[in-house]
Amino acid sequence: MALEDLYREVILDHYRNPRNRQGLGQANAVADGSNPLCGDEVRVELLIEGGEVTAIGVTGHGCSISQASGSMMGDAVKGRNIETIRILTGRFKGMMSIDGADDPGLDPNRPGAVLGDLEALQGVRKFPVRIKCANLPWTTLEEAIKNFVASH
Ligand code: ZN
Repeated sequence: MALEDLYREVILDHYRNPRNRQGLGQANAVADGSNPLCGDEVRVELLIEGGEVTAIGVTGHGCSISQASGSMMGDAVKGRNIETIRILTGRFKGMMSIDGADDPGLDPNRPGAVLGDLEALQGVRKFPVRIKCANLPWTTLEEAIKNFVASH
């Protein structure tokens, strides 16, 4: 397996020029996540209005996979409603699982089912120790949404 699979150009671009990389002054959903095995840390801050993520900040530090995944995730979820984000998260995690199995109950034509740039992270699956790096921002996003739903 080639290392280029891990470090695709789009991944490097997001790592070098991360999107949505600032804290939100007015976030109403926040969560912190870490992956001690690799030393990755991610903070996800959301502004959720009318069931929709209208702003997102993804900050932290760590390896290129975790940081690029967070950058791509921010682009992918901004302007989307919580239900669509749940679908997208399930689909991403399905892609990142060892067998790459999608959620069998998922209609591929539903909004949020299209991963776009995120598919560049598919190569990470061949490096099982790095799967946690790619999933970290998403797990943290789920936590932030869970916190929001629990308190609203
Ligand atoms: Zn990592």
